[in-house]
Amino acid sequence: MNRLLKVALAAGGGAAAAELARRALRSSRRYEPWERAPYRDFPKRVLIVGGGFAGYKAAETLCKLTRDRDDVGVMVVSRENYFTFWPMLASVISSDVQTQNVAQPLRRALIRLGASFRRAEVDGADPEKRIVTAGGREFPYEHLVLALGAEPAYFGIPGVEEHCISIRGIDAGERICNRVIERYEETTLEGEVPESRLTFVVIGGGATGVEVASELHSLVHDLLVPDYPNIDPHRVHIILVDANKEILKELDPALRRVARKKLADLHVEVLNNVRAREVTAEKVILNDGREIAAENVIWTAGARASVKLDDLPFPHDERKGLEVDRFMRVVGHENVWGIGDSAATLDASGKPVPPNAQAAVQEGEAVAKNVLAVIDGEEPEPFRYRPLGQLVEMGSEFAVNEVMGIKFSGFVAALFWRATYLYKLESPNSRVRIAADWLLDLFYDPPVTQIRR
Ligand SMILES: Cc1cc2nc3c(=O)[nH]c(=O)nc-3n(C[C@H](O)[C@H](O)[C@H](O)COP(=O)(O)OP(=O)(O)OC[C@H]3O[C@@H](n4cnc5c(N)ncnc54)[C@H](O)[C@@H]3O)c2cc1C
Repeated sequence: MNRLLKVALAAGGGAAAAELARRALRSSRRYEPWERAPYRDFPKRVLIVGGGFAGYKAAETLCKLTRDRDDVGVMVVSRENYFTFWPMLASVISSDVQTQNVAQPLRRALIRLGASFRRAEVDGADPEKRIVTAGGREFPYEHLVLALGAEPAYFGIPGVEEHCISIRGIDAGERICNRVIERYEETTLEGEVPESRLTFVVIGGGATGVEVASELHSLVHDLLVPDYPNIDPHRVHIILVDANKEILKELDPALRRVARKKLADLHVEVLNNVRAREVTAEKVILNDGREIAAENVIWTAGARASVKLDDLPFPHDERKGLEVDRFMRVVGHENVWGIGDSAATLDASGKPVPPNAQAAVQEGEAVAKNVLAVIDGEEPEPFRYRPLGQLVEMGSEFAVNEVMGIKFSGFVAALFWRATYLYKLESPNSRVRIAADWLLDLFYDPPVTQIRR
């Protein structure tokens, strides 16, 4: 990377880091958990299932609103004791961000807020008895907030689940990076390998697909070059397959064109208007009959609400999630609420709310206020979504952003992306570590190692 650009990038990161360090120090006041009674002792218990963007925000807001009350207890039950900061996951591919910093610690944050936390996988629920079962235990509630998130959808396409790397779980970035290293090691060992071994197909031309393809480019053309001097990076073929007429269909057309041109500059081949019909271990078969010989396929083309909803007795659409009213209450259940990617939330105007982090956070905050309103015998408010924009990073020096109607791209947009997501991270520790890594990267190339488990 050009040193001047690196310094400018660092300056942006440095300023953000200083501000974030100040915030970190301010927020380091410890909450003493023993000051609060156990969850079961509270007369009004709010159980939040799923501690991601939506569930965490709901818990945080409820705890802040009830700080001086002793009637409302909050518990979060979630599968992991961290939540995944998904917007930074693709950056793990090029080692721009480390996986452990994408994990936002849940337990410590919640305990400090005054909530209880249990790491457990939800098994079922009994709305009559007002009980959720998780990890073989029963958790009672007066109000239940379901925030189980989403997972990849494969649309029944043969071979996708079996042969593709999908963006599922916090280790997805590492798995993609490891695949590239694996192929490089095979190439250096065997000398000659078929072209398919060094062809990477990313299926899905939304923000995640574009970010993954760009990060793959950075890994191959920047980071791995000194480690593998015998492999010409141009032997690696990166292809983005998208079913739509254009990539990034949710962005403004001018930004889409900029992104398209950037991908062309990065030698990422884009195929639009075409779908994968089948994926095998050696190739991707497209619905127009073409075949791409590729042994590395990454699936980013679809998401659906958590499959766990199928085990719960609440009305839901398999793809869109829980059926909720405009107050985010699950249809037919006065005291059960659905938020985030696992709910088919409607805006007060009746329009569907997109499944993204900013919507999930806004829903979490709004549902906390509604739950409290109902507990206090007041009327809940319909949910009003305020779209703030979209940021798509294409490598560490380029982004295409649309923020409150303002469209911008390039290096400044990349700095904005970095500053925004640093600020949005929940963990002060991750903020400082990521900012420090970005500064260090100016002087030392981040090591790319493959930890084989
Ligand atoms: C790679 C990627 C990049 C993204 N980038 C962006 C972006 O740049 N901007 C943006 O706005 N949005 C982005 N999104 C979308 C955004 O991350 C989601 O919309 C957001 O995470 C939804 O929040 P949530 O709380 O509904 O789900 P999540 O944040 O996924 O949280 C769900 C929680 O439920 C828990 N859980 C799941 N099942 C169970 C179970 N059975 N029992 C107990 N707990 C369970 C999980 O452990 C998790 O903590 C991205 C998504 C992905 C996958």
